[in-house]
Amino acid sequence: MCGVVGLIGEEKAGEKLFPALFALQHRGQDAAGILSFDFDRAEFHLEKDLGLVSQVFPIERLSRLKGTMALGHTRYSTIGTVEKEDLQPLVLSYPNGIGMAHNGNVTNYSEIVEYVRGRRSRWTFTRNDLEILLHMMSIGISDRLDAGDSLSADVFAKAAQDVIEKVKGAYSIVGMMADQGMFAFCDDQGIRPLLIGRKLNPSGKYSYCFASEKQVFFGLGYDYWRDLQAGEFVYIDRDLNFSTFQKSKKVSRPCMFEWIYFAGAETEWHQRPVYEVRLRLGEILAAEALKKMKQENFEVDLVAPVPDTARAAALRLAEVLEKPYREVLIKNRYVQRSFIVNEPEVRKAMVNLKLLPVESEIRGKKILLVDDSIVRGTTSARIIQLLRESGAEKVYLASTCPPIRYPCFYGIDFPDGESLVAFQKTEEAVAKHLGVDALIYLPLNKLREAIGVDSLCMACLDGDYPVPVEKKNFLETRSRNIGGGGKNEVNG
Ligand code: SF4
Repeated sequence: MCGVVGLIGEEKAGEKLFPALFALQHRGQDAAGILSFDFDRAEFHLEKDLGLVSQVFPIERLSRLKGTMALGHTRYSTIGTVEKEDLQPLVLSYPNGIGMAHNGNVTNYSEIVEYVRGRRSRWTFTRNDLEILLHMMSIGISDRLDAGDSLSADVFAKAAQDVIEKVKGAYSIVGMMADQGMFAFCDDQGIRPLLIGRKLNPSGKYSYCFASEKQVFFGLGYDYWRDLQAGEFVYIDRDLNFSTFQKSKKVSRPCMFEWIYFAGAETEWHQRPVYEVRLRLGEILAAEALKKMKQENFEVDLVAPVPDTARAAALRLAEVLEKPYREVLIKNRYVQRSFIVNEPEVRKAMVNLKLLPVESEIRGKKILLVDDSIVRGTTSARIIQLLRESGAEKVYLASTCPPIRYPCFYGIDFPDGESLVAFQKTEEAVAKHLGVDALIYLPLNKLREAIGVDSLCMACLDGDYPVPVEKKNFLETRSRNIGGGGKNEVNG
């Protein structure tokens, strides 16, 4: 999962994406990049590097990003590596300068790379699946130019439709055509979010902004306009004329995990505000907790969240149960990437310092802990042990996500079923494995109601994959990856 953003019709667009990338930092912490285009000098400017947004962009780097059109990226590696050549945005020079950044995963990578390299004689230099998306876009444009067309919105739209038909997976893309304009498109089931914002200029035309999350618009002074639709291609030319194309309309299948865990609490998607959904998840979970407490005859003294995502749900759950809401774990926001430290003792200390117990609130208490989800179970087990060591009398765990039993091949970092704690396990077995006194999951059949969207991707919960995946092919592709490091590193 990554964060993407694009801006057209704005002076110093590249520099303005710097604060926008802060608003998307939680979506990817491996690397960051900005590509700008200066229409006056007909020049691309690209700055990208490993690290957090604040580390990648000292002021002198930002000032090099000239132009009124720019796109940016915060990277969370699931395909490709954390090597520099794999960082986004990527640029191609033929048949016209094209730059792109994306959020998502291609699931038929081997087939497409074979087509690009074997049948179209184009070399690839990275292990990032964006590169083959970029080549496919470029091939679609080249073929039409060879057939006598000239560069136009129509040509770009047809090229993007070819990409959507041939390249399988979940992806949301923002791109720029040198000297021409900005475009955005996504896969035909709209699995990954991309929102459109706009701002009316004194000239009477709109400037446009694309972003993975809505808070970017607030920061840049744009109004949220609407979501990009599944399979839609939109284009804004250099004179700020907007056009949209959608070849076939499929039912969208947005990723449920955006609401549960990944998205910032302040955004919305499909008209469903993330914070409101998380409150509703807490409400449903409260009903389940009450049932469990009655069945197993236990009481709790307080409700506490695992910071940060579970806060809204824990708050609502506490209100319904009429129990105190307390913070029993404090997250140290300054401890960042522990794997870059080589010394094992220092690394262990950094992991320990990431989440610290508030002993005065824990000692002698029966705690109902609320987490957004339980993925591999390693973090949950560590937290439960931490609470016990800090004197908790009982620890109960409630998860706003139903059991995750199947891998995700669409951009969240759990592509291997065996590593999931709930894989082929009953809820009782998971509870035992984690060492909790009781475990409460949000029921699978209540999730659509809680999110308020009828059609969702819930493949990691029910195994119903909206885009078929050949697992062997995917895992071979995946073995190219040594990355990781999005929001909380999805290791809970
Ligand atoms: S499999 Fe799960 S995490 Fe992956 S896209 Fe679907 S709902 Fe989201």
